[in-house]
Amino acid sequence: MRLLVVEDEHNVAAALQSGLTAEGFNVDVASDGDTGFWLASEHDYALIILDVMLPSRNGYQVCRDLRAADNHTPIIMLTAKDGEYDQAEGLDTGADDYLVKPFSFVVLLAHVRALLRRSSAGPQIAQFVVAGDIELDRTTRRCRRGTNSVDLTKREFDLLEVLVAHPGQVFSKDHLLSQVWGPSFDGGTNVVEVYIGYLRRKIDGGPAPARIETVHGHGYRLAP
Ligand code: CA
Repeated sequence: MRLLVVEDEHNVAAALQSGLTAEGFNVDVASDGDTGFWLASEHDYALIILDVMLPSRNGYQVCRDLRAADNHTPIIMLTAKDGEYDQAEGLDTGADDYLVKPFSFVVLLAHVRALLRRSSAGPQIAQFVVAGDIELDRTTRRCRRGTNSVDLTKREFDLLEVLVAHPGQVFSKDHLLSQVWGPSFDGGTNVVEVYIGYLRRKIDGGPAPARIETVHGHGYRLAP
């Protein structure tokens, strides 16, 4: 499924692109409003993530121009402003959803999935993520290892979901930090180590072989 990200802040665009690509989407990026409008007009995207503050044509204008051209691709607007007026303006221009910066990638992904589910063109997003004896239910946010149910906090669930969705793939602490805590989180990567520790106690505490592996110098992965 192909998505378009229109965002001029390079680090935000790159984080969105790598995160969404890891989730299985094909992601095109435009860094100004004119290019965004042109790409959205030329290609059939499942969804557009559209920043408000953009060079050449702002996000509100891009959105309004697309709707005026009878393009009804679902749009999530991103903005640093959090005033009610701005939100109303975003929805008035025909945007489907609205997200205030800074946001975590996990929250954005939840909005993307919800909007894709709502739009008739959207395919089904898997409810369960399974890797061997670990099963995560994205709807109820429940986790099982084998026959045991495991209680996870929101952050623990989000972190484990990244690993379980890609068994065997090594993720750096920086990548996990950006995916789970968001690109604007200003604490260090120590928090990732701490949460990996929490997950190990809960997931790998029993007699079954440990699943969460440290790859020294690189990061963490789920044993395939
Ligand atoms: Ca911007």
